[in-house]
Amino acid sequence: PALLEIKNVVKNYDGKTPVLEGVSLELNRGEVIVLIGPSGCGKSTLLRCINGLEAIQGGEICLEGKAIDYNKKDLTGLRQKIGMVFQSYELFPHMTILDNIILAPTKVAGVNKERAKKEAMELLNKVGLAHKAKAYPRELSGGQKQRVAIVRALAMHPEILLFDEVTAALDPEMVREVLDVMLDLAKQGSTMIIVTHEMQFAEAVADRVYFLDKGNIVETGRPKSFFSAP
Ligand code: ADP
Ligand code: ADP
Repeated sequence: PALLEIKNVVKNYDGKTPVLEGVSLELNRGEVIVLIGPSGCGKSTLLRCINGLEAIQGGEICLEGKAIDYNKKDLTGLRQKIGMVFQSYELFPHMTILDNIILAPTKVAGVNKERAKKEAMELLNKVGLAHKAKAYPRELSGGQKQRVAIVRALAMHPEILLFDEVTAALDPEMVREVLDVMLDLAKQGSTMIIVTHEMQFAEAVADRVYFLDKGNIVETGRPKSFFSAP
């Protein structure tokens, strides 16, 4: 089976109005999927369902051929395997950049603190932010904070990374530095689902593009065929 299988997922928030009307898609190891579609069509909802931040009312989501049990009290194990990066960074303001990054590896994954710090520094170095390790989030630009948020997700070695419009809140001059980090990850073989409005980036990064409209996947294809005019 594919690494992640989304089968006929149905979701509503109010007990009646469907936001996802039976969405299916498959993600293979090393594959990058980009989800596009108009605002409010359910892209963010789908990512949040995959990560267990929202409950689904129908269908199932399987990881490595096994249906994920979202009713489990503790979804830590799931979130170790499926990392997520949000539009709003979600860094802890009272903690340094380094402490933000090593928090989950040390507290959740049980990695030794010195080892976690060493790896965090290596990851920070890769995104050009080693010099910010001791700074606090408020001292960083939006683009820098988002690169830190990506590093924090990577520090858990997830099998899948979900990106929910991670450049949407950034000033235009900072968008590129964040997209470049994601392009590098794609080149290194990371498995990712990316929600973005950056169309050139989508074409460059995606193995497959899904177009969502009103809670349904209405089109899918390879990026070349998808973005070129008929
Ligand atoms: P997209 O990411 O494509 O912009 P969303 O998944 O954010 O779309 O939203 C899909 C629909 O679900 C929208 O109609 C939105 O208003 C609704 N919605 C999203 N989150 C919630 C929520 N927490 N409670 C109620 N309705 C929500
Ligand atoms: P880079 O080009 O290295 O990504 P920026 O041009 O975004 O960095 O920012 C340069 C410096 O200015 C950063 O190191 C950061 O400390 C500071 N800075 C930028 N934007 C902000 C901001 N919104 N709040 C606080 N400091 C900022």
